[in-house]
Amino acid sequence: MNCPNCKTNNVRLFHDSVWSIENGKVYQCKECTLTFIYPMMSEKEEHEFYKNFNEHIKARGLATGESLENYHNKSLMIAKERMNIVSKYFVDKSKVLEVGSSTGAFLSLLQNCDTSAVEPSDDNREFSKQFITNKTYSLIEEISESEKFDIICMFHVFEHIREPAKFLANCKKLLKENGIILIEVPHIEDPLISIYDIKEFKDFVFQPMHPMIYSVASLEYLFKQNGFSSTEVIYHQRYGLSNHLAWLKYKKPGGDKIFDEIFKEDKEYKKSIEFTKKTDTLFYIVSKV
Ligand SMILES: [Zn+2]
Repeated sequence: MNCPNCKTNNVRLFHDSVWSIENGKVYQCKECTLTFIYPMMSEKEEHEFYKNFNEHIKARGLATGESLENYHNKSLMIAKERMNIVSKYFVDKSKVLEVGSSTGAFLSLLQNCDTSAVEPSDDNREFSKQFITNKTYSLIEEISESEKFDIICMFHVFEHIREPAKFLANCKKLLKENGIILIEVPHIEDPLISIYDIKEFKDFVFQPMHPMIYSVASLEYLFKQNGFSSTEVIYHQRYGLSNHLAWLKYKKPGGDKIFDEIFKEDKEYKKSIEFTKKTDTLFYIVSKV
């Protein structure tokens, strides 16, 4: 077996199960440190999978069936946290494309930018139109190469992409000369893996929807190969002490209300994790070489 990123066969077994895939395994490349699911879904399987997406979401204990309005309002809180971290990249009049923009929560915060969106879900895309100043698309391939952006951003989308090199080639054509790509992805050094080493968390978090789980080194390799150089890496810890204690206690997702109450103030905890760089989330920003 070869690493899908650097193609070496120098890989090791990282975890022996994948959520919802019988005989699924997780491997890690010893060269570029990419962690990946094996076997990955084929295009056809992926299509079937996403057709039943709501069923999968329900099976993972996440809410469905709520109104778009409610969903959007929840997303807005996360989008605001995100904006606090990356706002310096979105200057006045920036031409911004978000890929996987959902209901448009993040783009709705960019009052002074020219915004476009790629969103495959028809309902989400229709809803998002009220916040978007330029165009919306269902696929990145629909965008004319004459459109050029200052920033292409995606939040928890890049890890879903099975052929990232092909995708980056598309992005490159759509970027201005000094344009940047800004992504937010789950980090393989998540403390529940790298510090607490919780088997049940790994059984849950390795899933067919995320064929690749990135480290900084594997992102560096991938983007460099595709003509980008890294501008900044931001180690960000999304989940706090309450969530971690709940995983340690119950070995399953869902949290604990009492822990939430007691450990509301956990900024220092998150900061300590960020200091060690063993965070659950990475922001990675690159520019064209
Ligand atoms: Zn590799």
